[in-house]
Amino acid sequence: MISEKNWAKELAKSLINLNQLAEKSIVPASDLQDLQKVKDTFDIRVPNLFIDDIVKGNNALAKQFIPSKNEIIFLPEELEDPIGDSRWSPVEGIVHRYPDRVLFKPTYLCGVYCRFCFRRNKVSDSANNIKSDNAKIAIDYIKSHKEIWEVILTGGDPLVLTDKILQKLLEEISSIEHVKILRFHTRIPSVLPSRVTDSLIQILKNTNKSIWIAVHMNSSEEFTEEAKTALAKLIDNGIPVVLQSVLLKDINDTNIQLVSLLKSAIENRVKPYYIHYPDLAKGTEHFRIPLKRAIELIKGLRGQISGLCIPHLIIDIPGGNGKIAINTHTARESKKNTWEFESPLDGTKITVQYP
Ligand SMILES: *Cc1c(COP(=O)(O)O)cnc(C)c1O
Ligand code: SF4
Repeated sequence: MISEKNWAKELAKSLINLNQLAEKSIVPASDLQDLQKVKDTFDIRVPNLFIDDIVKGNNALAKQFIPSKNEIIFLPEELEDPIGDSRWSPVEGIVHRYPDRVLFKPTYLCGVYCRFCFRRNKVSDSANNIKSDNAKIAIDYIKSHKEIWEVILTGGDPLVLTDKILQKLLEEISSIEHVKILRFHTRIPSVLPSRVTDSLIQILKNTNKSIWIAVHMNSSEEFTEEAKTALAKLIDNGIPVVLQSVLLKDINDTNIQLVSLLKSAIENRVKPYYIHYPDLAKGTEHFRIPLKRAIELIKGLRGQISGLCIPHLIIDIPGGNGKIAINTHTARESKKNTWEFESPLDGTKITVQYP
């Protein structure tokens, strides 16, 4: 199909090696030797769509996608599997940490390789992709676990799969009666919007399940005209889209940058769902801000901007112990039936009688 060829062509235009980056003066030639060490461990893929903006000096995009020498600095607390996927993986490709929902990872390829990715030790290597025999075992696992209400397709990025493979996969999952929800975790609408084709929409609509898309975007600059069109196409076709972001130093860690990201989402009918404090992935220290500052930043949004814009701050503590939603305005019972609150308007402490 013509449309499928278009997005494959666009994907092929992304920059995947250091010489390409040096040619465009995106990285200095003097850094090439150090950066080669980074590239040997963590692959590069910079979307064609962002190259002009990066060349013009857009830091929010550059820092997310251009390799840095900081990535070869590993801290002792940084882990290969920072959120404990393997602990909860009963069969290859499945992570079953919460009873009613599983992650299903059909591929480890993505439309971009984010320098802070929490699965960076696995992504980009097609050798990690699930083979068809094991994919069948994964589907059988979902079939035999009646408590699974939701399947979250993630990876990697499930929307880099071809229409044919995706269609077959969705048909198989759709045949499982107890699965009601199919959620995609994807960066595609932002990094490869041409992939949101009419045939993709048809494939999604043909499933008899409720489809939800959680799009990963971290800065307002990612809301390009192309991304807006792709998001609108999904939403106009009845597919709800929520936003997942990672709180990243220099990218969205100021009030101005964060408000701009969250408002852009709501302006495009995308509901901010989670903002993740960065996981302890290897070589990512330069992306983390103090947790205390992260909490203050999110707390400051309440009252400042529309409640529609405000996501939950999430931290996925190491060891596979699960996602913690951090409450920024906690209610405190100071004595029996006396509760203390902090006003989101000016921070004053207010006590109220509640049982
Ligand atoms: C994040 C995650 C989910 C989804 O969690 P929600 O809070 O429902 O968004 C499910 N399973 C695993 C293993 C996860 O890491
Ligand atoms: S798109 Fe997602 S899985 Fe892929 S590199 Fe970025 S954060 Fe990791």
